[in-house]
Amino acid sequence: MEDIDLSNLQLVSFNDPILHKAPDDFDFDKYNAQEIFDALFEKQLEFGGIGLSANQVGLNMKMFTFGDGEEMKRCMINPVLVDVSKETNVAREGCLSLPGIFLNLTRPAESTFKYLDVEGKECVEKFVDLGSRVALHEYDHMLGYNYTMRASKSKIDRAIKSYNKKFKKALRSGNFVNPVTGVEHQAPDEIDSIEVNTND
Ligand SMILES: [Zn+2]
Repeated sequence: MEDIDLSNLQLVSFNDPILHKAPDDFDFDKYNAQEIFDALFEKQLEFGGIGLSANQVGLNMKMFTFGDGEEMKRCMINPVLVDVSKETNVAREGCLSLPGIFLNLTRPAESTFKYLDVEGKECVEKFVDLGSRVALHEYDHMLGYNYTMRASKSKIDRAIKSYNKKFKKALRSGNFVNPVTGVEHQAPDEIDSIEVNTND
């Protein structure tokens, strides 16, 4: 078992290369899945997220957590997307790695994943609506992608403009409150542009 320090997990910067490549498969022989799950989930709640991927806090492994911490505390390990519905829906989406950037994104209303649970048992599960959106969002992180790649350039430019307005306010006040979660973050970096996939 490899010991990793889980006592002070912090969000890595959006530009950190770890967010832009697929993390390694989770190795149950090397890591204690339950310990990492617990630490990651605790951070997810602390950061005010409904999902958090291990690579967002610098851990190079395919695991993400999701849930509200009251009725649901879940994780998926080494997930594979096996099916999505033709039916889609649109909702406002944010990401703890880019606090303040919100994008209206179209996602499949239903998605089916094959994954390992925290005990290493193989599961196949279908998610709907918000569950599907959260799972697909976190799954993007497992591929080294992120939600901005699901939006058009013009949509992102508008979001950046509104973000930078908030950023200036954040600089003045010395902190930055995520308007959705109410959680305070460090004042974020100003963003000039985000590379986008313009096929959308
Ligand atoms: Zn995210």
